[in-house]
Amino acid sequence: MHELSITQSVVDAVCERAAGRPVRTVKVRVGVLTAVVADSMRFCFDLITEGTVAEGAHLEIDQPPGSARCRDCRAEFALTDLVLLCPCGSADVEITSGRELQIISMKVG
Ligand SMILES: [Zn+2]
Repeated sequence: MHELSITQSVVDAVCERAAGRPVRTVKVRVGVLTAVVADSMRFCFDLITEGTVAEGAHLEIDQPPGSARCRDCRAEFALTDLVLLCPCGSADVEITSGRELQIISMKVG
């Protein structure tokens, strides 16, 4: 379950920026290609924030779908997993979305 270490770094960053103020909401963007399960992340978030300024904060998870562009035929197509194959058969593809892993915003106070 890699959600635990990912969520730990999110909570660390949030608590650092909160600088002692209570955190109400944390919004993260986690692309589907990171293989993070939103429910697991919420579960970890509740565990990890216990006893921190982010305890009880609401975690919003935005999960952009995966997409890629083929360098051979220039087609753009949806990716549901990390099988990087264009419908044309080429494996020379570039991931354009779905690997995001970032904190978008947080509300404190
Ligand atoms: Zn192609």
